[in-house]
Order: sequence, then C-alpha cells, then structure tokens
Amino acid sequence: MRMVDLIEKKRDGEPLSKQEIHFIIEGYVQGDIPDYQMSSWAMAVYFQGMSIEETAELTSTMAKSGEQLDLSTLGGRFVDKHSTGGVGDKTTLLLGPMVAACGVPVAKMSGRGLGHTGGTIDKLSSIPGFRVELSQEEFLEQVKKIGIAVIAQTGNLVPADKKLYALRDVTGTVSSIPLIASSVMSKKIAAGAQGIVLDVKYGSGAFMKTIEDARRLATTMVDIGKALGRQTIAVLSNMNEPLGRAVGNSLEILEVADALQGKGPDDLIKVCLELGAWMLVAGDSVPDVDTGKKCLLQSLESGAAWDKFLNFIAAQGGDDQAVVDRRLQVAPWSLPILAADSGYVQSIDAHKIGILAMTLGAGRVTKDSPIDLGTGVLLVKKTGEWIEAGEPLLQLYGRDKESLAEGLLLAQDLIPIGSETPEQLPLIEEVIQ
Ligand code: URA
Repeated sequence: MRMVDLIEKKRDGEPLSKQEIHFIIEGYVQGDIPDYQMSSWAMAVYFQGMSIEETAELTSTMAKSGEQLDLSTLGGRFVDKHSTGGVGDKTTLLLGPMVAACGVPVAKMSGRGLGHTGGTIDKLSSIPGFRVELSQEEFLEQVKKIGIAVIAQTGNLVPADKKLYALRDVTGTVSSIPLIASSVMSKKIAAGAQGIVLDVKYGSGAFMKTIEDARRLATTMVDIGKALGRQTIAVLSNMNEPLGRAVGNSLEILEVADALQGKGPDDLIKVCLELGAWMLVAGDSVPDVDTGKKCLLQSLESGAAWDKFLNFIAAQGGDDQAVVDRRLQVAPWSLPILAADSGYVQSIDAHKIGILAMTLGAGRVTKDSPIDLGTGVLLVKKTGEWIEAGEPLLQLYGRDKESLAEGLLLAQDLIPIGSETPEQLPLIEEVIQ
C-alpha cells in the first residue's frame, strides 16, 4: 500500500477499508508516514467525512495504538464519563463522588485545560498536596478501596491521538466530526470503559456552537460505541452560559464543596443528576434514570457524597482539611464589576467569560503556559436574576494588577441587563442512545 493512493482515495470520497485504516494509523505512529501526508489525509477526511464503519475502525485502531487499561479486576461494569468541554464545567468533581457513593466505581483519567475551557486536572491541582499522577497499581488499588480515583491521562494512552491531535491543531483539521469522535472515543475505550456517558455541550462556550453540530457529534459517538460493543449515552447540554457561578480552578473546587454540602447551584446539580443517573444505569446499578437520580440526591442529602469527596482527596495525598476550611490559593488582586442599571440579567456569554478568566490567569493560551490556580471569575448574578444598579455582577480575581486591568476592560458591558425576564433555552436538550 502507498499512503499517496489512500490520500487520493479519501480525497475522491471513497471509503477506506479496515486494512487501509490500520496501515495509515500504524504507519503514522511508527513514523513511516510523514506529517505532510498525514495532514493531507486529515484534510481529505475533513472535506469528505467518513462512514460510521470507517470511524469505528479508526477509533479502535487508535485505541490499540498504546497502553490499554484492564479494569476487569474492579468487578462489575466499568462506566466512564466525558465532557466535550465548557466554562465552569466542574461536573466530574461533583458527580464522581455522588456516583461512587451510589456504588458504581469511578476510575477516571482527565485532562488539563486549554484555551477558554478548564480541565479537571488543573482544578484538582489547586488542592494542596493532591497527586494527579498515580501508578496504574495505585490507581486501581484506590478505586477498589474507596470507589473513586481521578488522575491525569498517562503518557502512553492512545499515542496515535496525541500525535494526530497535535497535527490537526496546526493544520485546520480539528473541527471534523469523525476526527473528533474517534479522538474522544479511542481514549475512553483505551481507558477500559464498558459503558460511556458523554456530556456533549453546545453553545458559545462549547466546541460545537450549534445544537445541530452537537447532535451530529453525539450521534456519531453513540454509533461508534454501538459498533464497538460499548453502551454509549450522550446528553446534549447547553453551554451558552457558564455552569455554576465559579470559573477558575480553586474557585471551582470551593463551589464543588458547597454543592456537595447542599448549597447548589441548581444548574450544576441538574446536569450532574442527569449524567450521574445515566452512569448508574450504564453500570447496571439502577433500573432507570429516575431511580438513579433519587440515589444521587440521597447521596447529597445524607452527606455520603461529601464524605466520599474528602476521602478521595486524602487518598490522593491532598489536604482535605484545607478544602473544609476553604484554605485554597486566592488571587492577590480582586475587583467587583458593578451593574450600571437595575434589571434582569439577559445573558452571560460563556465564551467571553472563559476568555476573561484566561486573561486573569486561570487558563492556558498554549499547552505549556503557566496558570494561577487562585484566579478567575465569580458570577454573582446569573441569567434571569434581578440586579439593582450599583450591585456587583461579577467578581474578578487576577494574578497581578496588569491582568486585572485587562480583565476590567473585557468585563465592561459584557453582561446585558434589561427590563424583561429573558427567554432561556433548556439546560438539558436531549439524550441520545
Ligand atoms: N477533544 C478531544 O479529545 N479530541 C478532539 O479531537 C477534540 C476535542
């Protein structure tokens, strides 16, 4: 086989066979296929797309390109969850302990944030002493002992995706549905998932800006799951406004601590109940979603999920008492943004808030940029809430005077206020399975 023939085949809209897909992925990982040919192929896929059969084959070939976790020793069905990324999205940290408290193990590999979206691993790193890297033995041992562990994705999981994603990032081929779907699903499959619950976000703060694109991505991932024998459920959720009120690493950990102690916020709890209930269903622990939601609510009300969160922090070397006492890093500079008029908050653009938080020091511009864990934005008011002129709308936390001044410019007029209550889209749009 020659790579040039396969590029031409895809360019002309013809489907690739299993053997041809193996040849491409294996050749690229081994260094036999150069970046220029691979980027040309990725562009052909971008324009011509791939069938579900091709995308499923691509997914399983990528999943087998490196280390694969065997979670059979955990017993039962192992269920993983993935979010396509958003602003203020701390769902893993809240629903992980809730799901574990309901008896379904959570053995999760998570990522760091990039651009305006945050990453679970950065949030956990804001807890003093917390180890985001564990050996595979430590990871599995902890899940067996307390039911939950969350670590940074290990270096050798899906090397094909690592290499291909870096190439797509600089060749204009990231936003291709078969390439995104195979990238996400290959990592879940290599991490040992038998059931997969996907939080596919749409809106200004999400990868997919429209519900139609989110639905196409979700359907493709669910179909890949089916083709590869993994029960896959996708929840489409709205990311036009940040989830919860906190955006920024330690601020989000504190919001999770509040939520686990019954202090909301409602939108975050709602998304976690939906995703968590599907995890319990996929883990064969409850017969239906309503029973799952009841179990999860009970874990909050009884304090079981909060205890599980503290056990989990301590088990990974973190200072659980620092979370209880709210002694996490705080940014040195803070400033409220006051409302110019009285009225109802009309909308809070998640993408703009993400950029604001990044400017203050909470996000990475490139994958190696440093972040300041105490920085970020608190949404004092959310869409639909009433505010009086002169009351704080936002509270900014900056790494220094310069970033705060830059943040101030971005925050001015960011949030429209009006005399009518705004119409709001549903938080959970639909579930695809
Ligand atoms: N997230 C991923 O893991 N892969 C993509 O291709 C896009 C988003």
